[in-house]
Amino acid sequence: MIKIDRYRCGYCGACVTVCPTEAIDLLGLWIEIKDEECNGCKACVNICPVGALELEHVV
Ligand code: SF4
Ligand code: SF4
Repeated sequence: MIKIDRYRCGYCGACVTVCPTEAIDLLGLWIEIKDEECNGCKACVNICPVGALELEHVV
């Protein structure tokens, strides 16, 4: 699952644009990732300009 650092996020929307499964909801100053729709492709992690997203491995 993707972990969001909400203090870092600048709400630019880049991750929303790049997500192939539309798993990211961005509404004003609120961002949320629907775990059940995320396939772990890391596109959002790679595009985020401020490094606010991180792929967490569930053990
Ligand atoms: S890892 Fe991929 S599928 Fe999951 S939220 Fe990021 S861009 Fe979307
Ligand atoms: S790309 Fe990064 S800074 Fe932009 S909305 Fe997504 S998490 Fe926030």
